[in-house]
Amino acid sequence: MNRIPFYRVNWITSSFLIGTALIALIGVPIYIINFGMDWFQFSMFFFYLSATMLSITVGYHRLFSHLSFKAKAPVKIFTLIFGACAFENSCLNWASDHRRHHKHVDHDDDPYDISKGFFWAHIGWLLFKLNPEPPMDNVADLRKDKWVMLQHRYVHWIGLVIGLILPAALGALWNWSFGLNPQIGALGGFLLAGVARIVIAQHCTFFINSLCHTLGRQPYSTSHSARDSALMAFFTFGEGYHNYHHEFQHDYRNGVKPWQWDPSKWTIWLLSKVGLVEGLRRVPDSKILLAEMGEAHRRAQQKLAEIQKAASSPACRASAAAREVVERLAANYHELEASMASRMQLSREKLREWQNETRSMMREMQRIAASQPA
Ligand SMILES: [Zn+2]
Ligand SMILES: [Zn+2]
Repeated sequence: MNRIPFYRVNWITSSFLIGTALIALIGVPIYIINFGMDWFQFSMFFFYLSATMLSITVGYHRLFSHLSFKAKAPVKIFTLIFGACAFENSCLNWASDHRRHHKHVDHDDDPYDISKGFFWAHIGWLLFKLNPEPPMDNVADLRKDKWVMLQHRYVHWIGLVIGLILPAALGALWNWSFGLNPQIGALGGFLLAGVARIVIAQHCTFFINSLCHTLGRQPYSTSHSARDSALMAFFTFGEGYHNYHHEFQHDYRNGVKPWQWDPSKWTIWLLSKVGLVEGLRRVPDSKILLAEMGEAHRRAQQKLAEIQKAASSPACRASAAAREVVERLAANYHELEASMASRMQLSREKLREWQNETRSMMREMQRIAASQPA
């Protein structure tokens, strides 16, 4: 207890985060045991959770922080309203923090720096203010957006009215219209679509800063801690492909492969089909593959160095095989790089061929490494 810096506690944020978590953990089970959960309450909870999560991922994150597409006013207004209901501060503050996270990832100026530990990256940075508030000098573009600035001024009021009072009012109205007790309906709306939804949405977003920098693979780069994980993508509406995202932050997709679970990317794509958003930014397939090949080559080189260290006679054979893999990876990498530099059109088949070869060489390298005595 002596180590907790009480004089640095952010009391308002801490009380909110701990208070809502306690209400959700204690109040919700008591409510459900006593009154159950009818389909209206469930639908409202589901709608509010999806609307809040998508407003953070599609709106706060991909649209406003990374400008990965352009949106018409209805999309901006919707995501700013339900983004406010997440109680994760205004979009302007959020985007400023997030842009610093990308710029200084894993270093001191990263507001949710994972190298300070899992707890800090998840929630500690909100509970304690260890450093003075940095200047918000990286969101000049957003300050010109009238909707962003309007939300910045009234964010807590919007969150309170739309995020807590409205679900309570709708719950009451629903019960009243069926001759049931409106107070029970109001309490249900407040607890389920209100508080429990806020707590779940918040921790799912916090996971992006904590678990998505801890759990999963790093197929595109190991120069930062961000990782790709299908499991995390499920809990974060697609943001779990975080290694890709940190490598190519302006792409509107996080799960870049067609089969990867990314409801946020599907939402943006659907909105573009009905003309509500446009200018979707995509990194060319060849550039993505180049990053994958570069990373595969770097790893193979590392393995080769390890094998060469163990200089026994079977190791000599393994070393030769490993060197061959490294050389083939390097040759492919340079071939793709040269074709891109000369702006040559590459067919999908050719890219797929290279991708398969890269992966099979990575497996080959694993096999060679595994055959070595430890
Ligand atoms: Zn990150
Ligand atoms: Zn980002």
